[in-house]
Amino acid sequence: MSLDRGRHYLAIPGPSVMPDAVLQAMHRPAPNIYAGELIDMTHSLLPDLCRVARTEGQVAIYIGNGHAAWEAALANVVAPGDRVLVPATGRFGIGWGEMAEGLGATVDLMDHGKRTPMDMEKIEEALRADTEHRIKAVLAVHVDTATSIRNDIAALRRAMDAAGHPALLMADCIASLACDPFEMDAWGADVMVAGCQKGLMVPPGLAFVFFNDRAARVRADMPRVSRYWDWTPRANPEIYYQHFCGTAPTHHLYGLRTALDMLLDEGIEAVWDRHALFARAIHAACETWAADGPMELNVADPAFRSNAVTALRLGEDRATRLRNWTETNAGVTLGIGLGMAEPGDPAWHGFFRLGHMGHLNAGMVLGMLGSIEAGLDALDIPRGRGALDAATRALAEG
Ligand SMILES: *Cc1c(COP(=O)(O)O)cnc(C)c1O
Repeated sequence: MSLDRGRHYLAIPGPSVMPDAVLQAMHRPAPNIYAGELIDMTHSLLPDLCRVARTEGQVAIYIGNGHAAWEAALANVVAPGDRVLVPATGRFGIGWGEMAEGLGATVDLMDHGKRTPMDMEKIEEALRADTEHRIKAVLAVHVDTATSIRNDIAALRRAMDAAGHPALLMADCIASLACDPFEMDAWGADVMVAGCQKGLMVPPGLAFVFFNDRAARVRADMPRVSRYWDWTPRANPEIYYQHFCGTAPTHHLYGLRTALDMLLDEGIEAVWDRHALFARAIHAACETWAADGPMELNVADPAFRSNAVTALRLGEDRATRLRNWTETNAGVTLGIGLGMAEPGDPAWHGFFRLGHMGHLNAGMVLGMLGSIEAGLDALDIPRGRGALDAATRALAEG
């Protein structure tokens, strides 16, 4: 019997669960884009976005997804022929490097594989070896959504400083912003990219590039920057339309205003703590399942696990069968494995991910875990016992 009535729960790592208040804020007639409320509201978004990113720097907003944020950031500081270092810890790191290559950059890919965080010593060594300082930027994914590895961006900054290297530190926080703690200024990121559809709880459509004065100076020395991607007028427009280089994403801005109000009312540290607690409960459940049977957490060391997404290995075709089961029988959609095996490879069906970003409560997290457990049993996939106990204990301990 299928038990999938009620509200469907999309538990994938983006787009995330959106608050009804965000959707309701977007449900309105088109506003005037030349005068009035929309203009003031847009101005209010920029300082609040910077509060979430923990920066005194600036932010440019683009109509686009995460890939647009990648390209926008690169277009402002990386010219054809420039060199970038990409210490990848999963598909997303590799993807950002590919975007740089597409813009004519020379990419030094330092591939850490699928299960290990960035090796800061190796990065420091590579930067020291670049005695002519040809590397212009280090492209670092904070949480790689494919592997769910969380990298230590503050440690990366220390490694860059130890090497005495002037490259920009560019961080991808598309998955992590407003889920995992991130301190742009305190950790020394010069550029940070994010999207609205993950921790920020807005439907896909807005991309953000945050940048500090150092990055602005690099931008100023660029031979040219495409008008559309140039962050300068977007962050400091003389006329309103320059914020978006054209028509504003009107309804998304209303959604974003509401989402930021919710996040800042809760308090960004409280938002981080909530996601950390959910992650502890989810990881406790997964470790218990993994104690017996084929399940395995992709990231062995809890210190490098994200609070936003958890990548799991189930082997054979079990992950696809489990995802199908929870979707059709429980109304819970789990994330596919991404970048762990090629789509044509049968091994692809052995990986899946849990998204736990955005507008979540304990009932949803426990419901997701309970649905997975029911699916494992229905499919006769062996598992350790007591996962839900472990999760509820983690939540009760707070
Ligand atoms: C989701 C994501 C992206 C890509 O975002 P799209 O909106 O799919 O283009 C890039 N980097 C990370 C870390 C992500 O989580």
